[in-house]
Amino acid sequence: MSEVPAAVVGEADLHAHSTVSDGTESPARLMEQAAAAGLWGVALTDHDSTSGWAEAAAAVPETGVVLIPGMELSTREGFSSVHMLAYLVDPLDEGLLAETARIRESRITRAEEIVRRIGRDYELSWEDVLEQTAVGTTIGRPHIADALVARGHAATRSAAFAGILHPRSGYAQPHYAPDPLTGVRLIRAAGGVPVLAHPGTRGAEQLIPPARLARLVEAGLFGLEVDHPENRADAKPRLRALADRFGLAVTGSSDYHGAGKPNRLGESRTAPDVVERLIAEARGSAPVMP
Ligand code: AMP
Ligand code: ZN
Ligand code: FE
Ligand code: FE
Repeated sequence: MSEVPAAVVGEADLHAHSTVSDGTESPARLMEQAAAAGLWGVALTDHDSTSGWAEAAAAVPETGVVLIPGMELSTREGFSSVHMLAYLVDPLDEGLLAETARIRESRITRAEEIVRRIGRDYELSWEDVLEQTAVGTTIGRPHIADALVARGHAATRSAAFAGILHPRSGYAQPHYAPDPLTGVRLIRAAGGVPVLAHPGTRGAEQLIPPARLARLVEAGLFGLEVDHPENRADAKPRLRALADRFGLAVTGSSDYHGAGKPNRLGESRTAPDVVERLIAEARGSAPVMP
């Protein structure tokens, strides 16, 4: 919990991945890149894991960049994956630890199944995927994509997603994830601040229905990640209107994955007053100041 509220004097990029999940840069390197991008602060938000926090925190003094420890919690509504950013949670909260362990476990069995299916048509083994990850990495489709690239079946991660990993290719398989409402409750119970990640990637016609959003707000949703490179242009004004209507904060972030995606660190940012409110609401942990 932040005893002394941080004076937020600059913009922050509130969504970035490291090698702890499917980013290609280490947490320390990410902090260096945040400094190079001229950011006041950056949130490390690896998928379903807080394992990168310590390394990123250790890089705060020399980089001079504020670290907002976070996580991107996987949730699911029916067949759609819904990502929930979780800022400043207590990393030792038992409810969150149990749920994220379950998700990471299911991500492994799911990835093994996808690889088994692809392996019927292409030369690809589980060992190929493990070669693309470190011990403890939250495994996801990007690591399968990297293995496909290493095997020469795709030119880039993005090409693998557009081809072999596309749902219509028939190898897809979901992993376990709680529903979004449970996700918001878990994050608040862990003292964290929940923000709905990239809610406009499917365009204006497929936004979250207001009644469903209302339930998330009631459970403690803090904001909507409106300024995200993959939110469709037609969705953004609608998302801003929803944020206004429900009193939600509007955040901006890059969803940086290093070399794994075209998104550049700092390309979308969150205003200082929003970052300040987010930090003030947190009870689980504090930002790491230089
Ligand atoms: P998964 O965690 O297995 O559901 O995979 C989702 C991750 O894959 C997300 O974090 C995305 O950033 C990444 N991803 C999705 N589509 C693409 C793409 N076209 N190119 C690169 N990465 C992608
Ligand atoms: Zn990712
Ligand atoms: Fe996401
Ligand atoms: Fe992400």
